This record gives sequence, C-alpha cells and structure tokens, in this order.
Amino acid sequence: MAATEPTTVAPPAAHEGILRRQSLRESAARTYARSLPIVPVRARGLTIEGADGRRYLDCLSGAGTLALGHNHPVVLEAIRKVIDSGAPLHVLDLATPVKDAFTTELFATLPRELAEDARIQFCGPAGTDAVEAALKLVRTATGRTGLLAFTGAYHGMTAAALDASGGATDVRVTRLPYPYDYRCPFGIGGERGAELSARWAENLLDDPKSGVPDPAGMILEPVQGEGGVIPAPDTWLRRMRQITADRSIPLIADEVQTGVGRTGAFWAVEHSGVVPDVMVMSKAIGGSLPLAVIVYKSALDVWQPGAHAGTFRGNQLAMAAGAATLTFVRENRLAERAATLGGRMLGRLQGLAATHPCVGDVRGRGLMLGVELVDPDADGPRDGAPPPAPALAAAVQRACLDRGLIVELGGRHSAVVRLLPPLTLTDEQAAAVLDRFADALTAAQRTRHQPLTSDTGPSR
Ligand code: PMP
Repeated sequence: MAATEPTTVAPPAAHEGILRRQSLRESAARTYARSLPIVPVRARGLTIEGADGRRYLDCLSGAGTLALGHNHPVVLEAIRKVIDSGAPLHVLDLATPVKDAFTTELFATLPRELAEDARIQFCGPAGTDAVEAALKLVRTATGRTGLLAFTGAYHGMTAAALDASGGATDVRVTRLPYPYDYRCPFGIGGERGAELSARWAENLLDDPKSGVPDPAGMILEPVQGEGGVIPAPDTWLRRMRQITADRSIPLIADEVQTGVGRTGAFWAVEHSGVVPDVMVMSKAIGGSLPLAVIVYKSALDVWQPGAHAGTFRGNQLAMAAGAATLTFVRENRLAERAATLGGRMLGRLQGLAATHPCVGDVRGRGLMLGVELVDPDADGPRDGAPPPAPALAAAVQRACLDRGLIVELGGRHSAVVRLLPPLTLTDEQAAAVLDRFADALTAAQRTRHQPLTSDTGPSR
C-alpha cells in the first residue's frame, strides 16, 4: 500500500518548525514525540490529521485513553453542556451534580459485589496518582508495608508506583513471576507455567524464611499493557484471588489501561469473575480528559481525612466526558464489540506469523493487541523463544507511520508492537489498519539488515 497522500496543503515550514522547536525546547525525557514526529491539528474517531495535511489511523489512542476515539460527539456534547450551564469547572473535592452523575454511572459498571459495598476516592488526575492512593490505602488499612508486584508490571512513574513496576528500588516490594506464556520463566508455558508461578507466590508467602516482608497488598494488571500485552489466564487470576483472600492480603487490580471495555469485558477482572478489593482506574474513565480514581471495599476505608489529597481532584469536564463515555460503552455494548472484532483481528495477525518468521508471538484480549517481534536467525533461543528484535520493532513502527498508521511499542525489550484502537473501530477501519500493518511489517523485514538510526526510547 502506498503512503497516505496529503489531503490539504499546509506550509511544510510550519510543521517542521514546530517539530524543530519541540526538540530544542522540550525535555530529553520526552517519549512518544521521538518515535512519532507528527503535529496533530485535527482529529475525529480513528483519524488524526497532521499540520502537514497527512492523515493517520491512530491505534495508540492516547495510550489507551480514547475508548470512543478522538472527539466523539457524545463526549463533545457532554463537555459543551457543562460549559453552557455555567457550572464551575474546578471544585477540589466538593460535591456537584456532575460528579454525582459520574459516580452513579461508574458504580453501575462495576462488579456488583464491589459496587454494593464500595467507596470511591477521587485522586490527582494521573493513573500513577491513583496507584499511589491504592498503595497508601492498603498500607494504612493493614498496618503492613510490604507489597507483592509482578515481573513486567507497569503502574506509573511516581515513587511507589515505580517501585511496584520494574524499576523497583524498594526492598519492601517482592516481585513475583507474571505468567508470560511466550517467555515462561519456568520454561514450559501454558496452564502449567501459570500454575508454577502461582505456586511460587504461595511458597514465598508461607515460608517463614523467605525474607518477604508482610505484604499490605498485591497489585496486578489483568492484562499487562506496557509489559508487552500479556493477558493473565483467568485460572491464574482466580488463584491470585484465592491466595490473597486466604492470607487477608488486599488484591489491587490496576485497570488503568484494561478498563472501560478495552479487553472485551467492561472491566478485565470480569473475565475471571475475580472481585478485587481495590480497583485503580484512569485513562478512558475521563473520556479523553484527565481523571483517576480508586474504588475499594468499604472495610479498607480507615485512612484519615486528607490522607490522600491533591488540588486537581474535581475536574468537572473530565467527569462529564467520562460519564458520557461510560454510558455510551455500556449502552452500545462496546465491550462485546471489542471482544468480537479483537478476536478477528487477532486471527488475522496470527496469520502473519506464517509468512513472517520475525513474528514470534501474537496475543491480546479484545482490542488490546500485541505482536512480539523476534530475530529467528539469531543464535540460541532465549527463554525458550528466539531473542526479541527491538530494532525491527522500531523499524516497523516507523514503516507504519510512513503508511499513515500510528502504533505503539512495548514489552520488556520494546519489541512488541501494540495496537490499542478505539472501541468504535469499524470492520473497514480494522481491515485498513491490518493491511497497513502487514505492509509495514513486510517492508521493515526486507530492510532488516540495514543499519537503523531510530530515536526511540521507552514511551509511556
Ligand atoms: N497503570 C497502568 C496499567 C498503566 O498502563 C499506566 C500508564 N500506561 C499507569 C498505571 C500510569 O498512568 P499515568 O501515565 O496516567 O500516570
């Protein structure tokens, strides 16, 4: 497929000037901007239009935030309604009709057992702030300081969230093996590999000499996102629920990326029937604006007033946009749609493995899809699988961009190409995404042995 043609003519100097000034003035720590040198000026649904007039199919969706795509009419209408009503836009954590409606709608989507006995804490607007709140909550409620987290986890960039993720420096965090089928830490994969990872957790908790500090909680992602799109088997999640319940350890489900229909259920824990003690939510719940909350069982609600405060906990526009999104996803059964369409897309991506030996593994749940790229010719397999191919993944991402498709990279070695399209994706759009991806994969593989000058870094 040919690269997308410019649809409107804009002065190329303006577009290039903006990019140049960005690289001169913005931090060396910038992320997406490095691998996606575009200047978005308009967007609708799946499509972003750049300042240079080029159009892109956006399968990054604000890192999984845009459940309904860009500028969905119901989201825009909800925002306009608040503005036109003269309601205050910022009210700290005061009660408002907008917040009341958001909370009612959110509770209506939750697993019943949790909703019937839940409290909600509005946090600072980022997912990482809600993770901080969750960890503080369980540490206060249990009086313990340890934490159980998993290999490959990503929970955010603030200190405690970072500890719970791979960059841990905190000795109180005990890292347990996440069931990563393709690179099973026990070398066997499948249900048996997942069972061994559960047994490892059980053994550490019950061995008085394991050196594991008493855990205040266990935090997990039902599908690891940044870790490389790795769905945990339902049986394993139920084992984690049993292990934590038996030992009075609160279970925290981080649904920041998996929530709001993304994986084919409204909340990813629903696939397994597991009811966590705490759920962490952000991204899509704000309908494209910043919003983060934790919802938890009322028995844990023993922290003091002000225990987790913050100025920006009352963004009325985000609550209105979020409530509209939640309602739209629920009423239009978009979780079911994500399951069906995601299943079909997964099948087509798996078909690529037959013709592209660099496709090591294809996996996902609903519209959270990942393709792990490997070097099939390299010496000696690693973890029972060929070594990951991060340079090739970066080349595929670039080739996708050249063809008007925005994809994300992730995984332990940044070798997993990730697709997070909006849940409103049509069949035709899905076909266009897959065509462009297949074409980009073929092109990047062809030039694989040429040196790459990619400027990518981890982008979260
Ligand atoms: N948890 C998960 C599972 C995430 O995927 C992310 C972000 N990708 C976070 C927490 C942190 O969210 P934020 O970037 O909004 O702080």
